[in-house]
Amino acid sequence: MIRRIDLRGRLAQGEILDYRALVPRASIDVESALDAVRPICADVHHRGVAALKELTARFDGVEIDDIRVPESALHKALGELEPQVRAALEESIARARRVHAEQRRTDVTTTVVPGGTVTERWVPVERVGLYVPGGLAVYPSSVVMNVVPAQAAGVRSIAVSSPPQKNFDGLPHPTILAACALLGVTEVYAVGGAQAVAMFAYGAREEAGEAVCAPVDLVTGPGNIYVAAAKRLLKGLIGIDAEAGPTEIAVLADRSADPAHVAADLISQAEHDPLAASILVTDSTVLADAVDAELERQVAETKHAERVTTALTGTQSGTVLVDDIDQGLAVVDAYAAEHLEVQTSDAPAVAARVRNAGAIFVGPWSPVSLGDYAAGSNHVLPTGGCARHTSGLSVQSFLRGIHVVQYDEAALRDVAAHVEALADAEDLPAHGAAVRARFPQ
Ligand code: NAD
Repeated sequence: MIRRIDLRGRLAQGEILDYRALVPRASIDVESALDAVRPICADVHHRGVAALKELTARFDGVEIDDIRVPESALHKALGELEPQVRAALEESIARARRVHAEQRRTDVTTTVVPGGTVTERWVPVERVGLYVPGGLAVYPSSVVMNVVPAQAAGVRSIAVSSPPQKNFDGLPHPTILAACALLGVTEVYAVGGAQAVAMFAYGAREEAGEAVCAPVDLVTGPGNIYVAAAKRLLKGLIGIDAEAGPTEIAVLADRSADPAHVAADLISQAEHDPLAASILVTDSTVLADAVDAELERQVAETKHAERVTTALTGTQSGTVLVDDIDQGLAVVDAYAAEHLEVQTSDAPAVAARVRNAGAIFVGPWSPVSLGDYAAGSNHVLPTGGCARHTSGLSVQSFLRGIHVVQYDEAALRDVAAHVEALADAEDLPAHGAAVRARFPQ
């Protein structure tokens, strides 16, 4: 079911391995989607709400009268939410709030010299647009994972957008609306895909000129290739988080891991998307064989077996056999998985050595599914190897650090000669003059 890549013994033969090229990865060509989203974004820019309604009819098959979801619909969805789902969402929100509130950075003032200070002041972004996917699956959990850090950062204006659903009167899925209501978000739009990102970037007006959605400063949230392409296209006009593409899980495991658990976790992420990637990295062929057998057994029983099978048999998934856990660490670092599970006998020590991952799940009792919903951590994470340079969504994503510089006369006088020397070295004498002007000879 899942292909094998055997790297054992190759280092012993003196081979230099380019792990990035050897580990399977989905080729998601966001660039190719740019041509498709460019006219969509331009249309929203120029025709506002009228364009949004037409694009929604074309891509979502839904005719909508209003792009803005009425507040009454949010309250109705919350009122009709199944009690156990409400309890679970409340627990998820409470845990995420605890973690994200404690992770908010505080301002730091450094006294560089007597009379000279630099403060890093953390200021929330003014207005954000949070995208919540709603194509193949609906993600009320993504509402929590976007809204909680924005609120913890102190963002004053929060708008959410999610695709309208045919079966729900052209509104976003009721659990998404209920999650918004639970979090106190009242500005919600029934718009999906690239057009939602364009709406956030440019704002949207009715033909009569009445503003329906004001432009935002930052757009965050996962989505499909069209969402990612629109974020890439409009980056600069708006800030964006990492492009969160199809889900990935890598499991670094040794003989001590339970094959049934490993297989279940690989399947759990393959369930997201036919393009999802599930990778097992192990030094044990016994485990690899046992996981193969478990995959056969469990996939047959899982609800979305077709989607899961496509993901697991795709070139983006596989089992990588390594000589030992050291080589396994080199492989998972090169892969830089969105989600990395460490299921080895000394999992905390192995996990501590990982350099590249969106999030790390340590030991047998920390499956990725826990992090997807209720660990308190954030599940909007960098995919496609972006974990090499980018963090997942966090309270920091919604803050900007502003350096505030305050020197008094004596402190400036003390350093004036150094400023002048560097200004002269860069042939920018006016820079030096700006300091000298304060201290006439
Ligand atoms: P989505 O909401 O991202 O996309 C649906 C929208 O795509 C539709 O509303 C439609 O307007 C637009 N669209 C569809 N076909 C189009 C076309 N041909 N041209 C232009 N626009 C078109 O939902 P999705 O498709 O289910 O994708 C969600 C993705 O987000 C999945 O890949 C999933 O794995 C990922 N995801 C990632 C994370 C994470 O944290 N990394 C979390 C949740 C979901």
